[in-house]
Amino acid sequence: MGEPVVELKDVCVTFGKNGLFRKRRGVEAVVNANLQLAEGEILALVGESGCGKTTLGRVVTGLQKPTSGQMLYRGRDIWAMDRGDWRDYRLGVQIVHQDSFAALNPVRTIMHSLSAPLRRHGLAKSGAEARRKAAELLTIIGLTPPEMFLDKYPHQLSGGQRQRVVLARALAVRPKVIVADEPVSMVDVSLRLAILNLMASLNEQFGITFIYITHDLATARYFAQKGRIAVMYLGQLIELGPLGKVLENPCHPYLQALLTAVPVPDPNIARQRRELPLRSLDLPDPSNAPSGCRFHTRCPYWKEICTREIPPLEPIEEDHYVACHLVRSIPPWHLLSVEQPSP
Ligand code: SF4
Repeated sequence: MGEPVVELKDVCVTFGKNGLFRKRRGVEAVVNANLQLAEGEILALVGESGCGKTTLGRVVTGLQKPTSGQMLYRGRDIWAMDRGDWRDYRLGVQIVHQDSFAALNPVRTIMHSLSAPLRRHGLAKSGAEARRKAAELLTIIGLTPPEMFLDKYPHQLSGGQRQRVVLARALAVRPKVIVADEPVSMVDVSLRLAILNLMASLNEQFGITFIYITHDLATARYFAQKGRIAVMYLGQLIELGPLGKVLENPCHPYLQALLTAVPVPDPNIARQRRELPLRSLDLPDPSNAPSGCRFHTRCPYWKEICTREIPPLEPIEEDHYVACHLVRSIPPWHLLSVEQPSP
């Protein structure tokens, strides 16, 4: 990897520790996150609701200051940047939210939503130029002919079309990185692939780095097939590596459990699924998260060390990282017991 475009160094985010509740431990939403992203890379950031993936995305986009640690953009700490570098960074890293309706001003036309960033950042000098560039953006994201959409209001578009407009608005400032936070979870199922394909083509065409935040392994598998996957559990990054390699040989017991729980439509295959019986099915309260490895209250392989020490994210192969004290001694994925088909 050359110089990373985005780098997180020992990032921790704790909520509710200050002010009136200074004495409380607070909610540790992100714990010691370390991550590097190369230019043009796709990373799927996967985990259950409340695991800290959105908070990590907000750290990357500068919407959340880390409690400790650093967020670097092109090698510079964003919270120690001068005005010029900060402006480059704010243009270079954009976010696409899950709720496209909330992201667009309901009383402004699509033309207004797209031209505002162009005018504000001096990328269009006149109204006519802004309109021409807004039309180009709509063409890029597949809303054609653009004249049909420019003067519409958000409520006149479908959910999929609105999400395309939100992507177009992010593209307006020629970003290097887009953090897409559950961008298809509120889109009709039949349109999800189209949005994922659009993001993949923006990655290929413009070399934009994507961080795709999702709780859905299936869409992560589809979108990041040539990229990497990072899995989070209760604020900790627990497995990271090339998506194909990680899903073929998941090493962390949490990811193994997650994969055994993915529904399979074919009943014959479903009966032969691997099994990983957990100690508990309940997700611990994030405001009172377990010490050490946060998965130890559910992990069938836990030992005393797991309750005391946070396992570091370490390589088990050149590009495959796992945070588990016992990763070299627990049964590998292919040896997990397989349920036999019933007669
Ligand atoms: Fe399980 Fe211990 Fe590994 Fe955590 S560190 S996943 S508790 S074996």
